[in-house]
Amino acid sequence: MSEGSDRLADVKGRIAEAARAAGRDPAAVTLVAVSKTHGADKVRELLAVGQRVFGENRVQEAQEKFPALKAEFADLELHLIGPLQTNKARDAVALFDVIQSVDRDKLAATLAKEMEKAGKRLACFIQVNTGEEPQKAGILPAEVDAFVATCRDTHKLNVIGLMCIPPVDEEPALHFALLAKMAARNGLQQISMGMSADYETAVRQGATHVRVGSALFGARPPLHG
Ligand SMILES: *Cc1c(COP(=O)(O)O)cnc(C)c1O
Repeated sequence: MSEGSDRLADVKGRIAEAARAAGRDPAAVTLVAVSKTHGADKVRELLAVGQRVFGENRVQEAQEKFPALKAEFADLELHLIGPLQTNKARDAVALFDVIQSVDRDKLAATLAKEMEKAGKRLACFIQVNTGEEPQKAGILPAEVDAFVATCRDTHKLNVIGLMCIPPVDEEPALHFALLAKMAARNGLQQISMGMSADYETAVRQGATHVRVGSALFGARPPLHG
């Protein structure tokens, strides 16, 4: 067994435990393995033991790793979890299965146009800046309801949920609770929250998708998202 498979078993066990403690079905939580900065060999280690959902935060990096893997594993599901430039929207629609980082109107419009051209309708999450941090991407909490409505009604995007990245220096549980509340009031079933340091907290608060990188793949070199 590889180190990757040991780490995967550990993380999955912790997700299941947190889910049961909250009276939730562990199967209702999708583990998104965040493979950014790690090579295709590391992704393969997890594919070999059944992991199928992966997350990348840069289109170009994903283009270098995933086309070959997707050709080999038809059920591999790739999520874009990082900021997307509109000029990369076409490439993103071609490669990814889910876009978790829809964060502004221009991007929503461009994605809708590219999906229409490609004859695809990818599932999308709206990224919410729950901490209202000026440097961070995402829709402000006060604008979420209107933005969800615009994405659905005007752009006809397939919006399935909300995503957040809480401020590093704040209690994540407060942000997770806020995101879950906003999802519920917009009738959205999917909630993407929780990373290596706090995914168990996120599961207890209703996360349907946790995005876990370093706990699965080891530490990343510093300075990379
Ligand atoms: C890198 C990243 C993660 C995973 O972070 P870890 O702390 O390594 O688990 C999750 N979400 C987003 C948006 C990321 O960029």
